[in-house]
Amino acid sequence: MSGRSALITGSTDGIGYAIAEALARNGCSTMLNGFADPDLVQERQSALRKYGVDVDYHAADLSVPAQIEDMVAATERRFGSIDIVVNNAVTRHYAGIDELPVEKWNYALAVNLSAPFHIIRLTFPGMKKRKWGRIINLASNYGIAGTPRRTDYVSTKHGLVGMTKVVALEGLPYNITCNAICPGATYTPHARKLIAERMAAYGKPEAETITDYLAGRQPSRRFIEPRRVGALAAFLCGDDACDITGTPIAIDGGWLANS
Ligand code: NAD
Repeated sequence: MSGRSALITGSTDGIGYAIAEALARNGCSTMLNGFADPDLVQERQSALRKYGVDVDYHAADLSVPAQIEDMVAATERRFGSIDIVVNNAVTRHYAGIDELPVEKWNYALAVNLSAPFHIIRLTFPGMKKRKWGRIINLASNYGIAGTPRRTDYVSTKHGLVGMTKVVALEGLPYNITCNAICPGATYTPHARKLIAERMAAYGKPEAETITDYLAGRQPSRRFIEPRRVGALAAFLCGDDACDITGTPIAIDGGWLANS
């Protein structure tokens, strides 16, 4: 991946950062993005530069198309091209469909679905011109299956899987692949917070709390490690993955196999 450059949304922590790290380890320069404390942003950039790659950060709010346009233009100026796009940022709101505030629904559409659309439509022409590109959309096991109280998440992730298929077909003549990664429960800051809350509520140790939480969800009964999602993304960005396109790829400890 030496000489390639990537734009990864929501990448200052969690799965997005793990993907940035896996790509940087393979020589790819990266534009980070996401809401984050400036100290964390600095820390993340320094850590990635240790791999000898160029790293920058853009604070675009992905619910605002003008800011997305600015981020894409800034990334192209900074690195000369955007060869790899990883649509990773997400917003989630837990509520029954008749309780989900309309503004939360609109915000989820903007961040989870419209932002990937804008980023792909803006970067696709450059990839077509260079006849090479990799687009990875972070969907979810909930891009394939449903669950109650998550209309915003499940609907936008299903939409993202659909977008992945269309983009894959349109990218075929240009050596551009587009795939959706569908993780199961992954041990990101979001999951760590959830487990910490349960430990506080039930007074059980971490390992037992995790096993209890994953029972009836993830058959492996262990969280997916973000670095393993990073490794999968890095593989999809390599030349050996040139024939993998338009596919939702589960990394879910058997979750979907069991649903
Ligand atoms: P996270 O919740 O830890 O981070 C989401 C990122 O998106 C953050 O960096 C946040 O700042 C950014 N973001 C949110 N709204 C934004 C906005 N308006 N503008 C710019 N950035 C914004 O995410 P995660 O848990 O690491 O998940 C990463 C991806 O993987 C997501 O697409 C998620 O749906 C998917 N996924 C995660 C899990 C899991 O268990 N963590 C499971 C399945 C799928």
